[in-house]
Order: sequence, then structure tokens, then C-alpha cells
Amino acid sequence: MTSLATVGESLRDGIELLRSSGSESPRLDAELLLASAIAADRTALLAHPEWQVGSDAAASYRAALIRRSRGEPVAYIRGLKEFYGMAFMADRRALIPRPETERLVELAEREVGRRLTAAPRGADARQLRIVDVGTGGGAIVVSLAAWVRRRGFAPDVELIATDASPDSLQLARENAVAHGVADLVDFIEADLLPAASGGSPPAPPSAGRFDLVLANLPYVPTDAIGGLPIAASFEPRAALDGGPDGLAIVRRLLERLLASLNVDGIALIEIGADQADRVREAVMGQLPGWSCDVERDLSGQPRVARIRPAPRDPAGPRAEPLGAAR
Ligand code: GLN
Repeated sequence: MTSLATVGESLRDGIELLRSSGSESPRLDAELLLASAIAADRTALLAHPEWQVGSDAAASYRAALIRRSRGEPVAYIRGLKEFYGMAFMADRRALIPRPETERLVELAEREVGRRLTAAPRGADARQLRIVDVGTGGGAIVVSLAAWVRRRGFAPDVELIATDASPDSLQLARENAVAHGVADLVDFIEADLLPAASGGSPPAPPSAGRFDLVLANLPYVPTDAIGGLPIAASFEPRAALDGGPDGLAIVRRLLERLLASLNVDGIALIEIGADQADRVREAVMGQLPGWSCDVERDLSGQPRVARIRPAPRDPAGPRAEPLGAAR
């Protein structure tokens, strides 16, 4: 019988293997994979290098290291990715949530908070309608829904999430269930926005419109996909490929905003760091008179385009936020 290795020894071996196979973060990767194999916290594992790793755990750690050394992202191997302080299930059905996308959630929360607290809301105030377009594994809509619930805003908000891929929608639903917000979000299979619903009596013109459109669509130029880290080759290509200049799908969404956004609504769209000028041009061309400014992410890169219709009265101040009318 061979003797069991300790946590410290296992980490050293794993780091060495991953470094030689070209990982950019061999230490972090090995720590996450070992923690997952022994079902412990990463911090507990760092505090206890003397712990012995059982043979089953050692075997699953070894299998995980081999997958990682072949380029598979740690998130898919663990089946988990932290995003916005929450743990999301991650697998090949959808793109792995990226830290830069947390900025979009932050901006969405700010918008919702502002609109719902700007003035006392009467009992007849309608709900804010929010859609997360191309939700993938649901990171944006689920973290927003969890915040909405914590803040007590659930009765005031209608949340919809769409995706063209039934597989990724299923993962998004699983994440919504895991975070206790499945009752707050409608998941709809759709190309970008859900088809406007008919119905009788006819709904008021604003019924199908949204106050907030959120989107992290594929925006990597087709030719740049080959140059992404190998980990990206394990992700669904359809979640990354944004056409020749990366903005083909964003432009298709812009085209639909005219009919889908309320007059005082706003769209928050994630973009590539070098796409700010082109997205402004696209808005000017496709939505004359609308405004587009670009927010930076936590690493200082241009990341979220904030797009809104022209104010109703061009001579007056900016459109009042919903609910602020006196
Ligand atoms: N930021 C991602 C990447 O570079 C792209 C995400 C996307 O296309 N929405 O891998």
C-alpha cells in the first residue's frame, strides 16, 4: 500500500504539472481543484498543508489536473464559478461568467434602485420590466434577482431572461433554482427579445416594452476567437462569436430597441474594451438622437454601453426616472 500524500505535497505536484502544461495561474488552479477534490474550502486547505489526501480524493484531483493540463477551464472542471459573490454552476452548456460582467450587474442594480426609490410608489404603480438578453448560464439575471429579493423589490419588478440555446436556458434555470429566485424570473427561448405577445383585450402600447434591457451578447470578432486562451475553445462558440467586427449581434439588438424600450428606459450592453467608438457610431446610425455613453469595468476598461432614447421634450431636462413624476 502506498502512503497518502499530504495537501502540501499534492499542491506542489499539481502546480508543477500545470505550470509545465502552460497554465497562466498554476497555483490558483491547483488550489481550487484540490479543494474541490477534498470538498474543503480553499482557505482551509491552505491552513492545513499537513492534511492527508484520501485515495479517492487523490484520484479525482489527478483526473482534474489532467483535464486542466489539456486546457479545460477550471470552472468547467469544478462545475462552479464565483460571480458577484455567488457560486454559479458552470458547464459546457454556457459561457463561464466573467468578472468584468459584474460591472453590468452593478449598473443594473443602480438603475433599478433609483427607479424604485425615486418617489413613493402608489399601489397602482406598474412593475419595472427587465430583460436579460442572451442570459447564458443566467449569471446576470440570477444575481440581479437575488439582489431584488434581498432589497424587498420583488413585487415591483418583472424579470425575463432569454437565450437562443435551450441548453444554456436550462443551466440558467438550474442556477435560478439554486439561488432561490426561480419564481422571480421567466426564462424564454428566443432570438434576442421575446416576440411581442398579442392577446385580448389588446395590451396597452407599453405592455411589451422594457424599462431595462441588459445584455452580454457574443462580441468577439470571428477572426479573434482563435487567439483567445485555449480555455475559451471549451466554451460554446455561439456565445463568443460576434461576427466580422464583433458587433453583428449587438447591432441586431440595437435595431430592436426602438420598438422594445420604454421612452425612459435604458439598455446596458456589455462590449469589448476596444468597441466603445464603434458602438457609439452604431447607436448614432441606427437610433438617431439616442444617447450612448460607455462605463468602465473594475480594471478600467470600457465595458458597458448605456443606451437610452432621446428625452421626450428636447428643450426640457432629461426624462424623469419612472415613478418620479409629481
Ligand atoms: N469577455 C469575453 C472574452 O473575451 C467575451 C464575452 C462575450 O463575447 N460576451 O472572452
